[in-house]
Order: sequence, then C-alpha cells, then structure tokens
Amino acid sequence: MKMENPTPIQWQFSERAQQLQSSVIREILKVTVRPEVISFAGGLPSPETFPVERMRAAFDTVLSKQGKVALQYGPTDGYGPLREWIADSLSTDGAKIVPEQVLMVSGSQQGLDLLAKVLVDEGSKVLVETPSYLGALQAFSVYRPEFVSVPTDDHGLIPEQLGSVAQGARLLYALPNFQNPTGRSLSVERRAALVETCARLGLPLIEDDPYGALSYRGEPLPKMLTMNPNGVIYMGSFSKVLTPGIRLGYVVAPVPLIRKLEQAKQAADLHTAQLTQMVVHEVVKDGFLKEHIPTIRKLYSDQCQAMLGALTEFFPSSVTWTTPEGGMFIWVTLPKHIDSMKLLDEAIAQNVAFVPGAPFYANAAEKNTLRLSFVTVPPAKIREGVEKLGKLIKSKL
Ligand code: PMP
Repeated sequence: MKMENPTPIQWQFSERAQQLQSSVIREILKVTVRPEVISFAGGLPSPETFPVERMRAAFDTVLSKQGKVALQYGPTDGYGPLREWIADSLSTDGAKIVPEQVLMVSGSQQGLDLLAKVLVDEGSKVLVETPSYLGALQAFSVYRPEFVSVPTDDHGLIPEQLGSVAQGARLLYALPNFQNPTGRSLSVERRAALVETCARLGLPLIEDDPYGALSYRGEPLPKMLTMNPNGVIYMGSFSKVLTPGIRLGYVVAPVPLIRKLEQAKQAADLHTAQLTQMVVHEVVKDGFLKEHIPTIRKLYSDQCQAMLGALTEFFPSSVTWTTPEGGMFIWVTLPKHIDSMKLLDEAIAQNVAFVPGAPFYANAAEKNTLRLSFVTVPPAKIREGVEKLGKLIKSKL
C-alpha cells in the first residue's frame, strides 16, 4: 500500500550530528577518480601490493575447513588465535604482551572512535601533534574535546613542549612512524622522552602505528608500547601491510581499558567480522608478512625516490619538503603567501591533485602546506604531475 500525502520529515539531527562534516580528502577523492587526473591526494595503499591470490586461497581454506565457525557470530574482543599472534608479534624480551591486552577492531579507525568514546568528555583536553592525522581529528571531534596542539619540528613531536600543555589532559595522540600527513618519524631518544614524560604525568599515550612496518631502510625503530606497556595504547592495522578492504585493526592496551573498550565495541557492532579475522590469521600465521612486507617497502621506496627527485628538479627553491624514510607521504611547505586550498582548484583544472594541509591542523592551520602521496602513481606520472605543480607554484612567486 502506498501512503497518500505523507508529511515530509524535518530531520532534527542531534547536536553531535550537526557538527559532523565530510572529510576534505573524501571530497577531493570524488574529483580525482577521473582517469586523466594524476592524484597525489589519496591515502590509499597501492593495489599492486594486495596479495589477492593468497587471500583467495585463505578464504577457501577457512570456509572449507571451518566454514560454520567463520560464518557464525564471534566474541567481541576478537578471534583468539589472531589476538595471540598479534600479542606474540608485539612482545619483546623486556615487554611481554598477552592476548587479553588485544582488542580486534573494524579498522584502526574504529579504534580511534572507541578510544575517544571511553576516554573523552565534552571539553576534555586532547593533545595532538601539529599537524596530525585528519581521520583522528574527525573521530575525536564527535566527542567535542578541546584540542591542544603540541608543537613539532622537523623531527616530529617535541617531548619537552608537553609539560606546559599537558596538565589535566585525557590523552596524547601520537604518530611516531612515517606520520600521516608529514612522513616524519620520532627518534628513539624522543620516543623514550615522550614515554617518560607521559608516565610522569599519568597521561595515556596513544601510539597510532599503521605505517611502522613500511620502513625503506633497516628495521623499524622500537615501539613506545614496548617502553611502557602500562601507559601506552598501541594501535595497529592490516590495511597497509595486507589490504584495507578487510577493515581489520587492533588496539593493544592495559586490560582495564580493553574491558571498557570491549563494552563500547559491543554496543557499536558486536564484533569485527569473524570470517576476515580467520582469513587474516590463516594468511599471517606461517610468516607470510615477512616475505610480503619487503615487496611493499621496495615499491614505496622507489616511488618516494621518484617523487623526491622530481621535487628537486621542478619545485622552486623557496619550497621545502620532508624526506620520509618509510610510509606513504611527503609534506610540502610553500612560501607563506600561497594558500594550498586555492592552489588545489587550479591544480585540478590542470589534472593534478593533492591534499591541502589546513585540515590536518586542530588549531591555527598553516595554509601554505600540502600533503603528497606517491604510492599509487607510477614514476613517469609522478614526474609529470610534479612538473605541473612546480610550474603552477612558480607562477605564484
Ligand atoms: N591511523 C592513521 C594514521 C591512518 O593513516 C589511517 C588510514 N589512513 C588509519 C589510522 C585508519 O586505518 P584503518 O584502515 O586501519 O582503519
């Protein structure tokens, strides 16, 4: 039956919902799907790195051997064998992590939401890097914190700057490895100083680490988690080392916090898909990542070099940029008078895209910054895109 003349609903959104905004990046990505656009905008990993055949085989094995378990509801904290694998792989001689400290989440993005949900009240002080991961600012914003930006320099967050702003804060959100958006990493000394300062202040330290495994040279630096497992909340993800489409991440934290996060997760989605957790366990359990991750590092390192070379060749000397040693991003600082948001419109008209830097700042945006991602663009196109951008910037000098 079709109703006659229904009253149109005047949607009365909650105050919380009224504050929600689409991510600037998602909006830009809508434009950049046009095949003629050379996009340095996306934060997407390269699909060339997805082990499609290995995943297909694992789905097959899990469904044929344990199909009924894989297709059933599962526990909120996650699939036991995968939590065990994660706990083992994070444990070091000095810091043993147990599976009870691991909560599986539907992408580490969900972890950010759950953490803010259980730790942040309206007006709570939340400390973030300058700049910080846009998706975290978005996730935390829902709970209406007061963001406090902690100063950074070319080497990332400055631990000595923390003391003066940390009083009464609920948490510090830090990205020690190949940070999104700057590509910077924290030195071992700064990690230790940060962990020590947070421990002294009783301040929970979130270590968000989706890119840690993607170092181009040498082994990744020690995790802050291993320096103080009682005070650090570690967030990992399979998005950048396997595939993001499976939406699988994890939070590692002291057990009382895990219990509270588990309650929040139960209310949100009961649990993360059992099938994908079992498939990922099937893929990683015999050491697949040890052979797979080096192939990702090589690809990203080569493309990073291609971009750094092109930047040196085509960008004017008044522009500076970071030199990442891993991960997916380069951060560019233009002369002060150039607003990268305005530059983007002109760049898109010339079929090149990037993400303007302003949305990555919780406070006092530096509008003359921008983020470039090099992982999904082949080297010849990187060169072509950077050349176009260089010309555009030169036209503004
Ligand atoms: N943290 C950071 C720093 C990220 O860059 C991303 C993804 N862009 C996430 C978290 C979310 O990752 P996931 O796919 O695990 O939700």
